[in-house]
Amino acid sequence: MSKDRSSKNTMENSGLSADEQLLFCNARPEPYKPYSIKAVEDFANWARANSLWILAFGTGCCSIELRPLMTARFDISRFGIAGRPTPRQSSVFIIGGYVSVKTLKRIIRSYEQMQGPKFIIALGSCPANGGMYFDSYNTINQFDLYLPVDMYVTGCMPRPEALLAAIMELKEDIKVGNCDGANRYVENLDWYKANQKKVIKNWDMPDYNW
Ligand code: SF4
Repeated sequence: MSKDRSSKNTMENSGLSADEQLLFCNARPEPYKPYSIKAVEDFANWARANSLWILAFGTGCCSIELRPLMTARFDISRFGIAGRPTPRQSSVFIIGGYVSVKTLKRIIRSYEQMQGPKFIIALGSCPANGGMYFDSYNTINQFDLYLPVDMYVTGCMPRPEALLAAIMELKEDIKVGNCDGANRYVENLDWYKANQKKVIKNWDMPDYNW
């Protein structure tokens, strides 16, 4: 955490008052650096892929398809997958359907509070292209302008089997080190922040929510 509040490695936090700025960390996030020994990184990726913890935050109607995966029929706990009630303990964020501008703000806060490496699955047509809300005044129609997506599941709404298949594919990608969404986010943070601030008019939070 940086104490230098004027360095180039800090965020402006211009949405906050001077008093509030002192309360929040203003350091810029850094990309994840793999272990220098390949075998160690491979082992870490194997462990990550086999202990995916999903943030329990449903954004739209597609989220209802998450629940069957927790039941005896699909039983995703056999794959080391569990739901968690807090971003601090979660490694996977499933964007379950349409995202209103109001919800986008909470999604950004939650995603940034997750510990890396972290992954996003965009579930349903709405996060990909707006779906039936493509011309809505208050629903975003291309989610990956605002946060990085590691896996898409198309459909309106996709069946639980499709979501399960996407999670299995995500696991394989994580194992071989192919999921770099979180790194893309911090490496292109200024671009993402500009897009986020274009749609979120009442930006009253830190520029990065540690
Ligand atoms: S893709 Fe269909 S089911 Fe999913 S959030 Fe959009 S409208 Fe709802």
